Amino acid sequence: MQRPSADQLAYTQPQLYINGQWLGIDGRQAEDVINPATGAVLARLPHATPADLDAALTAAQRAFCGWRAVAPLERSRILRAAAALLRERADAIAHGMTLEQGKPLREARLELLASADTFDWHAEEGRRNYGRVVPGRHLHQRITVLHEPVGVCAAFTPWNFPAITPARKMAGALAAGCTLIIKLAEETPATGLALVRALHDAGLPAGVLNAVFGVPAEVSTYLLDSPIVAKFSFTGSTAVGKQLAQQAARSLKRATMELGGHAPAIVCADAEVERAADMLIAGKFRNAGQVCIAPTRIYVLEPVYEAFVHAFLERARQLTPGNGLLDGSSMGPLANPRRVQAMRSLIADALERGAQLQCGGDAMAGPGYFWQPTVLTDVPEDARVMNEEPFGPLALINRAHSVDEALERANRLPYGLAAYAFTHDSATRMHLARGLQTGMLGINSLHVSMPEAPFGGVKESGWGSECGIEGLQEYCSIKLISED
Ligand code: NAD
Repeated sequence: MQRPSADQLAYTQPQLYINGQWLGIDGRQAEDVINPATGAVLARLPHATPADLDAALTAAQRAFCGWRAVAPLERSRILRAAAALLRERADAIAHGMTLEQGKPLREARLELLASADTFDWHAEEGRRNYGRVVPGRHLHQRITVLHEPVGVCAAFTPWNFPAITPARKMAGALAAGCTLIIKLAEETPATGLALVRALHDAGLPAGVLNAVFGVPAEVSTYLLDSPIVAKFSFTGSTAVGKQLAQQAARSLKRATMELGGHAPAIVCADAEVERAADMLIAGKFRNAGQVCIAPTRIYVLEPVYEAFVHAFLERARQLTPGNGLLDGSSMGPLANPRRVQAMRSLIADALERGAQLQCGGDAMAGPGYFWQPTVLTDVPEDARVMNEEPFGPLALINRAHSVDEALERANRLPYGLAAYAFTHDSATRMHLARGLQTGMLGINSLHVSMPEAPFGGVKESGWGSECGIEGLQEYCSIKLISED
């Protein structure tokens, strides 16, 4: 019998979590969890059977009656206790995240701590989920508006942020008084399960939260076809979001969807070029570019174009891709061979159409799914990569002759998740703030994601928001009571 590797020993074996019980393979279908930095198998992941999904639905439905009646103060206590456990366990959880997802340990730790903050923020906001009293039409009429939990929710989360994305959905649903069945990404199960474990250990009642895995389309179809589910939340590609929206429309389920992006960044003539390059490098190559809000189409105004490209390339060449567990690795691998293939085909197409390769451009030798940090300039707008989300370590820099030209090109795509601009001129800021078709805009900043502010897109980048008071309301329905 083969001995388990050190990575396997350090990695928590994933299980299903249904009605407060942890369930292993035990005859179920299973799949391998792969370390993308080495290609080695970390664990076998059980798939939920239809009977498991039924059990999760029944448990969530039953638990809803109790959880909605739990005082917000008590719900808050559980979320805060879970946040504290996450902080205590941060090092071990981050280690597991790097093993299964590949990102450098430092990024994994920061993501985990941000997830704890997300639990804390919702713990507090859930206590302030106020309704209101509307003045009546006559002296004795009393009109009250209540915010009530929507009911049983389903959530589907991807592999790129295995902690923060599930944390947003769990915290929002639970703080509002909803119960939840979450299908975590099969590629990165241990991190999401560590959040579930923290809530379990903090005293979350059985059935309030259930975590499952399986063939994504089969699980989502099963859950979205169930009359028990009142609402779903999905983070992933626009193509899958559209499929889920169609399925859920059959029973008019409510939806929150955070889908693809292709964020433009406009570097104006008055921008601080070195500072803009620092921020855009960090934003672009974080998580090997597998970030829905990563700045990707960079439009630089003519007067600062050469200086910006020089500063950006200087920094891109200093990046050191490598196993995220090793000191000195500043960028991890891609999630899977599909992403490597996608990079290869998008870059080949851009070069054929006349783009200039400034650095990178190929997979890296050795094990794992590493791709070199890549910069293309002069990329024609009809290149596939200017139209499809690359979701990899690939920056596209183009010259613009005016702010209006950059604005028009920025708005050209059906996406509208995040956008960035670098300028200190107040009139230009105002013009871009009004004109950019986006859900989130960073001006001289890439910080658009924090628990207290709404995170979401417009156009085909999604519906609704996560986090902020807006995000909590996505898990609430409105009830009007008129009394005489
Ligand atoms: P994919 O579209 O196959 O999967 C993306 C995610 O959606 C995965 O987590 C997958 O498990 C899930 N998914 C797929 N089909 C589903 C279904 N029918 N029901 C429920 N969940 C389903 O693509 P991929 O190769 O894994 O990732 C590539 C693309 O996905 C990227 O180019 C990017 O556009 C998108 N993506 C976006 C985000 C985001 O944060 N918005 C995250 C991950 C991936």
